[in-house]
Amino acid sequence: PFMTSVMNIGALRWHFLLQSLENLQKNLLQLGSCLLVIQGEYESVLRDHVKKWNITQVTLDAEVEPFYKEMEAKIRSLGEELGFKVLSLISHSLYDAQRILDLNGGTPPLTYKRFLHVLSLLGDPEVPVRNLAAEDFQRCRPPDLCLAEHYRVPLPVDLKIPTESLSPWKGGETEGLQRLEQHLMNQGWVASFTKPRTIPNSLLPSTTGLSPYFSLGCLSVRTFFYRLSNIYAQSKHHSLPPVSLQGQLLWREFFYTVASATPNFTKMVGNPICLQINWYEDAERLHRWKTAQTGFPWIDAIMTQLRQEGWIHHLARHAAACFLTRGDLWISWEEGMKVFEEMLLDADYSINAGNWMWLSASAFFHQYRRIFCPVRFGKRTDPQGHYIRKYLPILKKFPSKYIYEPWTASEEEQKEAGCIIGQDYPFPMVNHKEVSDHNLLLMKQVREEQYR
Ligand code: FAD
Repeated sequence: PFMTSVMNIGALRWHFLLQSLENLQKNLLQLGSCLLVIQGEYESVLRDHVKKWNITQVTLDAEVEPFYKEMEAKIRSLGEELGFKVLSLISHSLYDAQRILDLNGGTPPLTYKRFLHVLSLLGDPEVPVRNLAAEDFQRCRPPDLCLAEHYRVPLPVDLKIPTESLSPWKGGETEGLQRLEQHLMNQGWVASFTKPRTIPNSLLPSTTGLSPYFSLGCLSVRTFFYRLSNIYAQSKHHSLPPVSLQGQLLWREFFYTVASATPNFTKMVGNPICLQINWYEDAERLHRWKTAQTGFPWIDAIMTQLRQEGWIHHLARHAAACFLTRGDLWISWEEGMKVFEEMLLDADYSINAGNWMWLSASAFFHQYRRIFCPVRFGKRTDPQGHYIRKYLPILKKFPSKYIYEPWTASEEEQKEAGCIIGQDYPFPMVNHKEVSDHNLLLMKQVREEQYR
């Protein structure tokens, strides 16, 4: 109930979370321990169980989100009242955001370059906590409750989560570690990783695809960070932040740090780092974007992959976000952020909002004149349109020269492809050239006014 009260968690992410708990349960059993899942409001759960089970310590992850901070404060005061100790550890991020803020004079560094500079004063992140081993559990026999039906990991039906349309991504530490090892085996790939050169429309992820596992605590970012350091140490050359793999992890830290010290980080109003823009309110257009009916195959394929699988490549996120906001529809980044929050497996309060502000040129990013073209962007890396054919099978029979702009095919060619534009697949919802020119002017105006 706590998570659902602060985030809109979609069905795919629920499945991923339950699979992750199932996997944790299995791995703990192998170590001679077990996982007890209690459902309910955390406050009443603690009240009910502290005495009953003689709980002396509650351990939790320290997080930067305001709602987690609030939860931690409440648990601490419950601890005083009920007599248990609270141990809160930073393990979701590489660094303690507060230390970075302190080193930067109490304010968040607002550029990545500045952020890296502050990190250089801090040194390497703390080493990862080692994985638990059987001996850790030798003294504490699993309670008989382990087998109690009452405390098992819930099934999707118990939580009334739709069981159809499962994502190909499977949750859990075991899957996450496998994915990690697979990538790390290829040391050349790791050392030369250059984010902008990865491909947004490959049929399998061209980046690590580890984000869902970091997001739900299946994998430690510190483990990844140090494994990368080892590979870098053995390589003659390796790429560097911002484009390297370690650089990607530092982007994550960057957004956590800024979010931890910015009020209303996920909103425009009351957010001191966010440009205040009069975005259009247009529920119908927003719906078309969300449901993959923009009429631009590249954008619609991305939104379909997002809905069906819960993960899309970073540059695909760029394309979809730019199209909704400053590029074409001029709809608020907050609306897009909410859709991503519901559909992404890796949905994250700080990273999602930070990137949406970036893409909409509301904060961090200033090259707002660069607007992505919904036709040309995808063509560069997938001229045959394999990606579009996979996610929008209705278009799959179009020859490659039309796959990104099927409305330019003649009536005859549309018939041959078995898809009539305007009937089986929509016409483009905007004239990209016209709207993007217009939006650019609007953006220029806003920026001039507000920077003055
Ligand atoms: P890799 O390139 O393999 O990078 C490794 C790890 O670095 C990622 O798993 C992730 O933890 C971190 N990382 C990479 N890029 C970024 C970035 N730009 N910002 C912060 N961390 C990064 N990422 C999320 O985890 N959750 C979100 O809710 C989220 N929303 C986004 C919304 C928009 C509009 C955009 C443009 C990006 C968003 N991202 C989000 C960032 C990024 O797209 C994903 O982290 C990345 O694509 C995940 O794929 P990967 O694990 O293969 O990344």
